[in-house]
Amino acid sequence: MSAFITLANSFYASYRVQRQLLIDNTLEENRVYATKLAASTELFLQSTQKQLAYSARQVANNFDDGVRLTAETDRLKYQTDSFNSVVITDVHGKIRATSPDSLQLLGKQLATPGALEALEKRRPLISKPYISVADNLVINISSPIVDAENHYRGYVGGTIYLRQKSILNELLGEHYYRDGSYIVVLDQDRRILYHQDRTRIGQIVDRKPITEAIKSSDNGSQTMYSAQGISMLAGYAVVPSAGWEIITMRPTEATLRPLDGLMFKVLRHLTPVALLTLLVLWFCSRLISQPLWLLARSANEMDKPDVATSIKSIPSWYFEATQLKRALLIGISLLHKKIGKLKFEVLTDPLTGLYNRRGLAATLESLQQLKQSSAVIALDIDHFKKVNDTYGHAIGDEVIRLVAQQIRACSRTSDILFRNGGEEFLILLPGSSLQIATDVAERIRLSIEQMNIPDAGNITISLGVAYWAAHKGEIEPVLKLADASLYQAKQQGRNCVIVAA
Ligand code: GH3
Ligand code: MG
Ligand code: MG
Repeated sequence: MSAFITLANSFYASYRVQRQLLIDNTLEENRVYATKLAASTELFLQSTQKQLAYSARQVANNFDDGVRLTAETDRLKYQTDSFNSVVITDVHGKIRATSPDSLQLLGKQLATPGALEALEKRRPLISKPYISVADNLVINISSPIVDAENHYRGYVGGTIYLRQKSILNELLGEHYYRDGSYIVVLDQDRRILYHQDRTRIGQIVDRKPITEAIKSSDNGSQTMYSAQGISMLAGYAVVPSAGWEIITMRPTEATLRPLDGLMFKVLRHLTPVALLTLLVLWFCSRLISQPLWLLARSANEMDKPDVATSIKSIPSWYFEATQLKRALLIGISLLHKKIGKLKFEVLTDPLTGLYNRRGLAATLESLQQLKQSSAVIALDIDHFKKVNDTYGHAIGDEVIRLVAQQIRACSRTSDILFRNGGEEFLILLPGSSLQIATDVAERIRLSIEQMNIPDAGNITISLGVAYWAAHKGEIEPVLKLADASLYQAKQQGRNCVIVAA
């Protein structure tokens, strides 16, 4: 999960970085382009003003020579492509010369805003856009004509058409429009001087925020929204002499379009590596966690007899798992030892070390399960009350312990001995015949009779012998039979062996 989250995170981070990079680059590109266009336009305007100023000087002292004036307007019009039309007026605005002469304006009085402004201000001017006499939307660039006596004689003016083909349009139109990118030029009144859509030229842009937002940014570029509500990345620059604003714009969506392909490429290159990494991580984490998991599962089954073997088989290839495994194995071995000890204590009698009644029950059950035929000897110390009464209970216990020891000494390892409560014993002889059991009983009786017990002298025992054939039913009746024989031995004067019929 963490590997996956990390991968997803880095993918997202890379997306954000790429996105910002594209936006920043485009903003910078637009700013640079706007600045470049502004510089070119400024250069162009300065050169036109120089041309006009030169012509004004040329005609100032020949102002009455109509041919000379016409020659000068023709030169201005045709020598360069700077102007769409050129006029020279007198101090009242009457046209003295014009080019091209197809306009048929000679002698007419000019009252256009551009002409009136030039006549009024009498200094080099770049006019606001207005509708000319020939019904074109134009700007007028003019220079005053002042003669040697310093008299104002009129002005020489060149117009540039805004909606038709003109040098300005060509200068600004170099921008090739792709991905919805475009440029807009506004004058100081926010009137559109240049727009890709020519019908919008001359309109006033009422949406202040466009330029305000750009102006307020430090680097002359800004993310903004177009009139159609499209997010745009814009650059901005001012033409100093005219105060025009050049705005270059590119839709954000067009800028970010390559991003999808880019991210898809990143994803395509990332996926195989990521999958491989995840696979390796999964494999490694499994390698680490599996011993822990197996150890934990084994810890849950500590009481099962074969748990130690299964723990030993767990591959513990690193230090921590090895230590845990070792600790578990030690714990289990201690536990099993303790359980074994408790089991033994539960089944045996502490005084004699022989099996008790619980041990007897377990033994009988397994004999019946194994169908193992067995001889049975029941045994009881004679007149034991007297021993207790005469020598005390402690000596009585000692007698019981010594008798048990003696019985063990007289029997084989395959015989199973029980203290059946008080001073009564039971011997099971699996696989032995009734005859053998009788011999054993007799041997025990004799050895006890001959045993000299310190502090208690001699004692005797009585014994009853019986035989259980596994295929002839339950063992309990046979035990009762042995008991009955023992009782019979007591009846017959004790210190003897009675064999059940
Ligand atoms: P009998 O020959 O008929 O067997 O006579 P007995 O006196 O041995 O009679 P019985 O077997 O009925 O009595 C057993 C006595 O053994 C009774 C009890 O006081 C005593 N006894 C039983 N268990 C213990 C024991 O663990 N320690 C001691 N010291 N005495 C015990
Ligand atoms: Mg008894
Ligand atoms: Mg007794």
